[in-house]
Amino acid sequence: MSILSDALMEITPRPDIIFVEGKGSWLTDTNGAKYLDFSQGWAVNSLGHSHDEIVRALSDQAARVINTGPAFYNAPMLELATLITKHSCFDEVFFANSGAEANEGAIKLARKWGAKHKHGAHEIITMHNGFHGRTLATMSASGKPNWETLYEPKVPGFPKVPINNLSAIESLITDRTVAVMLEPIQGEAGVILAEKEYLQGLRRLTEDKETLLIVDEVQSGAGRTGDLFSYEFYGIEPDIMTLGKGLGSGVPISALCAKRRFCAFEHGDQGGTYNGNPLVSAAACAVLRVLLKPGFLQSVRDAGDYLQHKLSQLIRTFGAGHTRGRGLLVALILDEPVAQIIVEQCLKNGLILNAPKPNIIRFTPSLITDKKEIDQMADILEGVMKMTFNSQ
Ligand SMILES: *Cc1c(COP(=O)(O)O)cnc(C)c1O
Repeated sequence: MSILSDALMEITPRPDIIFVEGKGSWLTDTNGAKYLDFSQGWAVNSLGHSHDEIVRALSDQAARVINTGPAFYNAPMLELATLITKHSCFDEVFFANSGAEANEGAIKLARKWGAKHKHGAHEIITMHNGFHGRTLATMSASGKPNWETLYEPKVPGFPKVPINNLSAIESLITDRTVAVMLEPIQGEAGVILAEKEYLQGLRRLTEDKETLLIVDEVQSGAGRTGDLFSYEFYGIEPDIMTLGKGLGSGVPISALCAKRRFCAFEHGDQGGTYNGNPLVSAAACAVLRVLLKPGFLQSVRDAGDYLQHKLSQLIRTFGAGHTRGRGLLVALILDEPVAQIIVEQCLKNGLILNAPKPNIIRFTPSLITDKKEIDQMADILEGVMKMTFNSQ
């Protein structure tokens, strides 16, 4: 059979490569060429490609039972909910299939709680440049500038403020406000970190105003920042949290987590065909068991420090840019809009990176990458930067 790429809807320019195998930090294409993957599907494959314990969990569970239907308990679903609640400040979990769907659930839960307990308050304050997914409501909650006029009309009820500006939120909170929702680290915006005092202040403010604090940890959760959940770094307890991406390490599962007193759904309010499916839940259990091994999160922090150290050396060499990030969610910010060219050249040299903004390169390797791979990555990147900056 010939391969017809025009049988796929064209939604993005894809390079002329077909990957057929992956292990750890490496992908192999149809020609046998190997690529060092420091994107991992945009921070999704937390344990890298085809980690043994995920493969085993999937094949064992597939042989046992793949789907029982969402209206019945299954063992992996119960184990996963127990693992998440035991290791977080949340009491209850609802499983879904994507980050957008978990966030859509968070929006519904907040609106339901507002309808029941806050006289119909329904507005959710969100952030400029925030990213919460691609359903209509989560696009409306997102603050991506180039989405402003896409798929109009948007879902109303998402007034927006700049991140790290508490007074902007203070002046927007009214009787209609039910929640504030943000990413503790804005990933798609280019790894922009919420400041510690800001998030702590926001926690106090939202408590004072009886407003929910929702953290979207679809990208920052599941060990990515060197904490199991990135809110831990801030020493606060949010009311609602969403997880996705790294939770399944490539297997599509997401979670909506909440404190018990905000769990306002009644029968029929929320659901979904694949939610809590045993196959994907078993994979996520395997991921969490690895993340929770003693010393694992420390090794993520160490690898993240080493990655930023290597990038700082490149910055000194080329006299341009700076880094930011936490754990293995790291960005290299360049002084010029050359990120896309560099990413394309890296790909030609066997390195997969990603440019969320014209001047920003994002690094989201497997959480079990090591110094050797980080060195290999930095060598390829250095060669490409040399070419890029010398040819200008
Ligand atoms: C990727 C992402 C989403 C959307 O997740 P999907 O699985 O693509 O729906 C939502 N929020 C954040 C912070 C993300 O990084």
